[in-house]
Amino acid sequence: MTRYIRVRSAKRRNKDRAPPFMPPRPDLGPQPRLGYAESRIERAAELRSDAKAVAALASDSRAGAYVIGIDLVVLKKGSTRHEPLFTLDEARALGPITETVFLGHLDGVGRFGIGLTLATAEAIKARDDLHVTDLRSIAVQGLVDADHLPPIAEAKAVLHWHARHRFCPNCGAATQPVQSGWKRDCPQCKTEHFPRTDPVAIMLAIDGERCLLGRSPRFVPTMWSCLAGFVEPGESIEDAVRRETREEAGIACGRVRYFRSQPWPFPTSLMIGCYAEALSTDIVVDREELEDARWFSRDETAAMLLGKHPQGLTAPPGVAIAHHIIRGWVENGAGVLG
Ligand SMILES: [Zn+2]
Repeated sequence: MTRYIRVRSAKRRNKDRAPPFMPPRPDLGPQPRLGYAESRIERAAELRSDAKAVAALASDSRAGAYVIGIDLVVLKKGSTRHEPLFTLDEARALGPITETVFLGHLDGVGRFGIGLTLATAEAIKARDDLHVTDLRSIAVQGLVDADHLPPIAEAKAVLHWHARHRFCPNCGAATQPVQSGWKRDCPQCKTEHFPRTDPVAIMLAIDGERCLLGRSPRFVPTMWSCLAGFVEPGESIEDAVRRETREEAGIACGRVRYFRSQPWPFPTSLMIGCYAEALSTDIVVDREELEDARWFSRDETAAMLLGKHPQGLTAPPGVAIAHHIIRGWVENGAGVLG
């Protein structure tokens, strides 16, 4: 009985909130490719403990390595786009290597991530034949072929984990990398340590024909985006979406629908894109987290995605999941809530 009543009341609420007229689907042009996602690499996890097989892939002259010094990615300068793959010999000649990770293979050809210290990466910035820069710039400016972004993200996240987990959090002893870079073992207390991924909920709250966007003080001055925050221990994604929206903007949310996800290697996050049904409309901005937050109409949001907003306001670039979340709503309206 209780369930029946709940279903009815939810349906009635949806009906009340449904717009009387669905505007035509705006033409936003071709869908940009989401950055760091849809990897073509076969990770071949079964080979990680097979040192002989990984060594054979590494000794193949066609093998390639992405070279990363914590936040800096090393690229070979090209005339149009830069080349992020080095032969393993070329990579080893760049400077002392901190770690080597087997990323997987592409059609049987090995792919590796090779770590440098940040100091080494900074030092080789002076070389004329190299371009050394951060991964955000590479993605947003399209400095390499987009197929390279997922394995660079994979390499960057795992290498960052190695750099920050050299000692056992349980007993303090130095840990040793094993399994081709996918595990660290503590020789003293025998604890096994695995690379971590930190989930972040990123969401668009929807009130009929309006969506809620916010501005972080870190954003470029014109940009507005989805709200986001880390999922906390013992918390579901849906609860994190509701909590973050309430904390940052004072908006209560009901239904939450998953959209899609994106690896976000800054340093080791996974962005989990969601839509949320707003149940209240009065915004109270948490100024510790956000510079501002407000409701945007679909027309205004479409203009931002197209770069044609009359006041020059912008949405995040196409490589970011926020762009895709916002676009999904502009194109499909409240239907994204299921
Ligand atoms: Zn230990």
